[in-house]
Amino acid sequence: MILVKTRKDLQEILKKQIEINKTIGFVPTMGALHEGHISLIKKSLSRTDYTACSIFVNPTQFNNKLDFEKYPSNIENDILLLEKAGCNVLFLPSVNEIYPLNSDLPKTYNLGFIESILEGEYRPGHFQGVCQVVHRLLNAVSCNFLFLGQKDYQQCMVLKKMIELTKFKCEIIIAETIRSEQGLALSSRNLRIPESKKENALGIYKTLQFVKENFKKEPFDLIINRSKEMLFEFGFSKVDYVAICNTSNLETEKEYNPNIEYVCLIATFLDDIRLIDNLILKDIS
Ligand code: AMP
Repeated sequence: MILVKTRKDLQEILKKQIEINKTIGFVPTMGALHEGHISLIKKSLSRTDYTACSIFVNPTQFNNKLDFEKYPSNIENDILLLEKAGCNVLFLPSVNEIYPLNSDLPKTYNLGFIESILEGEYRPGHFQGVCQVVHRLLNAVSCNFLFLGQKDYQQCMVLKKMIELTKFKCEIIIAETIRSEQGLALSSRNLRIPESKKENALGIYKTLQFVKENFKKEPFDLIINRSKEMLFEFGFSKVDYVAICNTSNLETEKEYNPNIEYVCLIATFLDDIRLIDNLILKDIS
């Protein structure tokens, strides 16, 4: 695997691939890599000729300074995992490389409804920061395919919108959420969960399963209220939201309609660790 720190070096490497008509897949990450990230790398390797990964903890998407400061980092291990997976190039830029002072790229994007709800409501400015960084990364990585995880469901929708707005010619491929054997969605933030709270953390997945088993039987507000109670019983200290939304636009619905596909999304706190997860509610007849 080649490791580069500047856009110039990265572009030189990718240009050679483009000249010989190779397709490029790109997996942007914030590091502290786990099997979820590696599944995206493997998907890219199987679907494209050349895979680029970036590791950059993006300051502009953190609305909470402490969350940014405490964001886990393990670069040596990340490099080993990427090498082992077969990643072709790793882009490890500095903050100045991504946000040069003379940049004329936009700082705001007209994302509309999608950024006013759920994560957008509880983390003001978060999605603008995500769009800023991915726009800048895509300028550096000229890829054909952008690989994203369903784990960040709303983020996938936001980035689809950003790509529409900026007219990048890359296709988004969304990969399923990788979970622990017991169902906890893998996340870099899980590294901060103390051993004594690991069992509690499984409560998110159990709650998602509860919603999946019941969403056809009761009005959604009842299911949501019961789900919030369950999360508190599992030991979560605060619940930002439990929402049952239309998968295509994330509009909330009141009750089950067989013509609509639903996704349940949860954001909740285990002490000061904010965890998110979601489940598409389609497999139960
Ligand atoms: P992050 O490093 O958390 O910004 O995530 C980088 C990419 O990996 C995003 O597209 C995430 O949605 C994806 N990702 C994170 N966790 C998982 C997971 N458990 N399974 C699959 N993809 C994931």
